[in-house]
Amino acid sequence: MGVIKNLAASLIVIRQSSFRNNHKIIMSRRLHARRTDGVDKNVWVEFTQLAADYKAVNLGQGFPDFSPPQFIQDAFCKAISGGPQMHQYTRGFGHPPLVKNLAKFFSRIVGHDIDPLEDILVTVGAYQALFCAFQALVDEGDEVIIVEPFFDCYQPMVVMAGGKAVYVPLRPREGSTVLSSGDWILSAEELASKITSRTKAIVINTPNNPLGKVYKTEELQMIADLCIRHNLLCISDEVYEWLTYDGAKHVKIASLPGMWERTVTIGSAGKTFSATGWKVGWVISSGHLIKHMKTIHQNSIYHCATAAQEAVAHGFEREYEMFGNPESYFKQLPAMLHHKRKKLASCLQSVGLQPIMPEGGYFMITDISSVKVNLNDQSNTDEPFDFRFVKWLIKEKGLATIPVSAFYSPEHRKEFDKYIRFCFVKEDSTLDAAEDILRKWSQQE
Ligand code: PMP
Ligand code: GLN
Repeated sequence: MGVIKNLAASLIVIRQSSFRNNHKIIMSRRLHARRTDGVDKNVWVEFTQLAADYKAVNLGQGFPDFSPPQFIQDAFCKAISGGPQMHQYTRGFGHPPLVKNLAKFFSRIVGHDIDPLEDILVTVGAYQALFCAFQALVDEGDEVIIVEPFFDCYQPMVVMAGGKAVYVPLRPREGSTVLSSGDWILSAEELASKITSRTKAIVINTPNNPLGKVYKTEELQMIADLCIRHNLLCISDEVYEWLTYDGAKHVKIASLPGMWERTVTIGSAGKTFSATGWKVGWVISSGHLIKHMKTIHQNSIYHCATAAQEAVAHGFEREYEMFGNPESYFKQLPAMLHHKRKKLASCLQSVGLQPIMPEGGYFMITDISSVKVNLNDQSNTDEPFDFRFVKWLIKEKGLATIPVSAFYSPEHRKEFDKYIRFCFVKEDSTLDAAEDILRKWSQQE
């Protein structure tokens, strides 16, 4: 018995040591794929956690802190209790009622007959739409021109597809006080100068996050002319398409002559119906481009949540009927945000900060270079000023915002590190709480 016990014990020792050795062998090789190098930092991961840790009043991450409209909540509840098929797989490239309603709705806007089965791909939020677009259309060595400031994931997505991101900045108009996002200009010469024989696509975002710039038809025409002249694709992120103010009009670049065939338009139900957690997005484009995105989609996530798609389908059906009426959510949401935008702007002005009024979207940026704060205790002085400032603001004042240089390439980050972004798609009580913090702080100065 004793012999058997000893044998068993030595077998365990042998197994443990061989496990340790194998473990060492595994650990001595590089575990990660190179595509993850250099793209491991993420502003949302970092600042959303920090805001939560410090229980800050959150004007940082862009999501409404109020419920989606009742009609779409009802549609979701109805879907959930709509029978077994609502809980099972649906068509992988998009739930049939959703693609049908998206096609009907957007055909009228783009002025092109959109085929629900060929020209649309439903995705897990606009994020996955962007991912499918970059994976399907960008090859090793391709250059992709990104207009700065840009939604931060474009750059890592281009890099992970093997492409090279090339940047062209929107620049504040020279010589005058910059009061509106419309004062940030894209130079046609500068954009043209970035195009090489390797350029595959230009990425734009209108209304822009974080600036709120809504591209005018002339600006889009200039981009379209370059795309057509140099045979480029245009990836147009339009997740904030319904949110424009003071008469600014959202124009789809896909609707300009010659652009349908070469434009990939991206949308999000999260932004459209104030339901960012549902993660329903879509790509609309010509079938000859969509088919390659379908390949990425079918071999990665394959399918998106059925009930959420069913609810969004109802949302678009309703909005199609109400289009242009005051009861349309696409009118009501910007009307509500118009008021919140004004409220945030006056709050910033009252504490001596100059807001740059957004023409669209639900973010507002402000220059913080005149604010006197001692950031010496923020250890990492290599970090851009706005990163250190926002960390300080969260920790010391309990107010969360987002540093704007996160929307710039690593090369240009230091040049644009004097702005922070406030999100105003928030309850008035949240905006009041932020105002309280800013006022108390300004009175201490
Ligand atoms: N594009 C832009 C410009 C965004 O601000 C966001 C954030 N919502 C996305 C894409 C991603 O959208 P979604 O939440 O639908 O994935
Ligand atoms: N699009 C949102 C923003 O700009 C949130 C993005 C995210 O949390 N990843 O705030």
